[in-house]
Amino acid sequence: MDLGISGRWAVVCAASKGLGKGCASALAQEGVNLVINARGLEALEETATFLRSLNPAIEVRCVAGDISDENVRQALLTQCPQVDILVNNAGGPPPGDFRDWTREDWLSAVETNMLTPIELIKATVDGMAERGFGRVVNITSSAVKAPIDILGLSNGARSGLTGFVAGLARQARLAERNVTINNLLPGSFDTDRLQNTLERSAQSTGKPVADIVQQRLQTIPARRFGTADEFGAVCAFLCSQHASYMTGQNVLLDGGHYQGTF
Ligand code: NAP
Repeated sequence: MDLGISGRWAVVCAASKGLGKGCASALAQEGVNLVINARGLEALEETATFLRSLNPAIEVRCVAGDISDENVRQALLTQCPQVDILVNNAGGPPPGDFRDWTREDWLSAVETNMLTPIELIKATVDGMAERGFGRVVNITSSAVKAPIDILGLSNGARSGLTGFVAGLARQARLAERNVTINNLLPGSFDTDRLQNTLERSAQSTGKPVADIVQQRLQTIPARRFGTADEFGAVCAFLCSQHASYMTGQNVLLDGGHYQGTF
């Protein structure tokens, strides 16, 4: 299927590894020009080289820096001739017990996982509406639908973003101008972040990592972790011309882990 977005421009945040890289790769294969971001310059440039190798016809630009920094966001927007597609992403907040979290911990989670995507949406959606095409995909978490107790900072900050987006996506001045805003909710995807989480669990329980992996897989009907490429493919579909009538949705990708009809 031709997704009908060849020649468009996308900003993909936090894209040197993992799910962000998966989204950038899928968009690259569809002929979308990219401005990608991550804090570490070396991995970011390696990813840019990889993306150009996937599709030599596209342009790929890099902006290194923390996406929660206003200057970095401005640099991303400046590098992009016009933002047709915005993929919001960042590292997730650390796990822990809410009794140990300070106000600063909360502010940091809210800044990175709620206010940063909102600022980027604010800077881009009206231009998208004027041009009659726009796609925003926010990478959130399955924890928005089924909270994970030790990820309270993530549950809270991402739910704030989700509630805000639910209202904004339904504004007629965006929806009637072919601007859609949707959230992708990853369950367990095989990325560095997942590996770190599994290793931390192994350390805290004293069990081998392989046992922790097996335990986790038993809770996933697909009996495997997802891949960044399959995550990216769904992101690219949401960004396609075919997904114009789909907005304000929370799309769960979890191999069947969530036990619910809706
Ligand atoms: P990952 O493999 O660790 O990759 C994270 C990427 O984001 C890297 O490119 C990293 O590069 C970049 N990054 C992190 N913090 C950044 C920041 N403040 N500014 C700019 N770039 C930043 O993680 P992932 O598994 O792809 O996860 C992506 C998001 O999905 C996270 O929010 C995570 O919590 C969420 N999620 C993941 C899973 C899963 O199973 N993988 C499940 C639920 C939710 P630098 O470190 O160089 O900046």
